[in-house]
Amino acid sequence: MNIRDIIKDYPDYPKQGIIFKDMWPVLDNPDAFQYILEEFEREFEGKIDTVIGIESRGFVFGAALANRLKISFIPIRKKGKLPGETISRDFELEYGTASIEIKNESLKDRNILVIDDLLATGGTVEAAIKMIETLNGNIIGLGFLIELKFLNARKILSEYKIFSIVGYD
Ligand code: AMP
Repeated sequence: MNIRDIIKDYPDYPKQGIIFKDMWPVLDNPDAFQYILEEFEREFEGKIDTVIGIESRGFVFGAALANRLKISFIPIRKKGKLPGETISRDFELEYGTASIEIKNESLKDRNILVIDDLLATGGTVEAAIKMIETLNGNIIGLGFLIELKFLNARKILSEYKIFSIVGYD
């Protein structure tokens, strides 16, 4: 299954110099979507009991995977979207800055896979990791559909197992 050919590039979006990788065509292709879930499943089945997805494209793969594995799904949302007590973190993106948050509930004894659609500089997932570890969650791995390898996120995430399905050098 050549997922690479299905992901579409949009040069200079949302700003000059960024090649935006549009993953949505993958969802328009049931075989491709299935293949991606099977890849995550093969890598992490039996090792995790919770998937944490990062808004919003991390929800798509994360929730589908959790359902497939019959395990929990927890969202990390953009700031200001979750009711109740939360913890949040600010971080820098490949383009701009942002803030994400999670419910302030213990993740102790949970074996967690963090899912997002794309790993660029690693700032988003690093912020997610810090929050999850503050809540005492045990991170088993980080899963992405796409990894922009040339941005070297693995350098700042060297303690963690990273699994990506399509890499760009
Ligand atoms: P980063 O924190 O730099 O690793 O950026 C990861 C987040 O930003 C992911 O949630 C992506 O959805 C989004 N993102 C960053 N760069 C791109 C890109 N070139 N194409 C599509 N999405 C991107």
